[in-house]
Amino acid sequence: MNILVINCGSSSLKFQLIDAESEQVIAKGLCERIGIEGSRMVYQKAGGGKQTTEAVMDDHKAAIRMVLGALTAAGSGVVGDLSEIDAVGHRIVHGGERFASSVLIDDAVLAAIEACSELAPLHNPANLTGIRACRDLMPQTPMAAVFDTAFHQTMPEEAYLYGIPYEYYEKYKVRRYGFHGTSHSYVSKRAAQILGKEPGALKLIVCHLGNGASVSAVKYGKSVDTSMGLTPLEGLIMGTRSGDLDPAVIEFLAHREGKTLEEVMRILNQKSGVLGLSGGFSSDFRDLEDAYEKNTPEGTRAMKAFAYRVAKYIGAYTAAMNGVDGICFTAGLGENSPLIRDMVCEYLGWLGVKLDQEQNGKRGEDLIVSTPDSGTQILVIPTNEELAIARETRALL
Ligand code: AMP
Repeated sequence: MNILVINCGSSSLKFQLIDAESEQVIAKGLCERIGIEGSRMVYQKAGGGKQTTEAVMDDHKAAIRMVLGALTAAGSGVVGDLSEIDAVGHRIVHGGERFASSVLIDDAVLAAIEACSELAPLHNPANLTGIRACRDLMPQTPMAAVFDTAFHQTMPEEAYLYGIPYEYYEKYKVRRYGFHGTSHSYVSKRAAQILGKEPGALKLIVCHLGNGASVSAVKYGKSVDTSMGLTPLEGLIMGTRSGDLDPAVIEFLAHREGKTLEEVMRILNQKSGVLGLSGGFSSDFRDLEDAYEKNTPEGTRAMKAFAYRVAKYIGAYTAAMNGVDGICFTAGLGENSPLIRDMVCEYLGWLGVKLDQEQNGKRGEDLIVSTPDSGTQILVIPTNEELAIARETRALL
């Protein structure tokens, strides 16, 4: 069974065609600058090199048409025609309280995803555009929606409520939802396999550290807390997002800088995080690690603040679960940066954490990077959100 996984951003579209039985990627790629001058598609079939095609893509439908064309093209394609694509799995950012699991898409589901757009105005409309374009071009193909928020719907009330008048939750569903759920779910299940235990027997903390970053507490297989909130702005210091801050900062900055609410929110989303802390130097952790290793004030400030916040969340979630059996690092930074794992684990002596520096120096595979006598196991697990979406889609069919 071939499953096409689609992840639409506002001007981009990532895709993978996955053989659901062998779980191998058959082809993958990315359309960039959709609706902007200079749009292009990068396409790669398994074992082949990357092909870049510059072409006008006015909208996501044009992009999906390009993708389907590449997948079915004589020579560079991987399937004879569209009937060989058995299903499409769509990544959807916000499922609100309506979706606690993945679903097959029909008109009612589309309307419900649309209703969640108020909670994710930058993301859900792009996701919907992708679904509609696929439905137009492949009307007979079943499609599934897999939500970033769904895994965290098991959070208890005390974890998801904000300390604001309850009527705002009742009227508008203002609460914490959490994101990166597909990744937290995938990594926590994989961690249980690596530790040779059932997920239901473990208390795990998953640190998804990429450009967007979040931590989750996964108790006995269920998310019981996570650091992102109503939107992906809450929690850790990220590439360009501030994470937690006193809400009064917003009013203060608006007054002192003469900015509108929207302008301040744009600063918190796009100019803050390690980019802001490093004085605009970089949001890319590779640059910041270099700068940290050269002892520059920018790099030191940003890296230390980032690691400190991650460690603080680990402490909080250990309390929330009354213990922790394993702490997992994943995503671009979590998987590839021995330095950040070391910096975070420096704070965890009270948990008896001991890193095995040789193991911690390795890359690109599932690893236990703590010593056998470490009080808590530290794991590095490459995330694979596309595979998780393909598995969910297959299960629904
Ligand atoms: P993601 O959002 O998961 O794709 O992660 C992107 C982030 O991971 C970027 O800030 C990258 O700089 C960072 N990253 C990727 N590879 C490395 C690496 N080898 N060392 C440090 N950071 C990395």
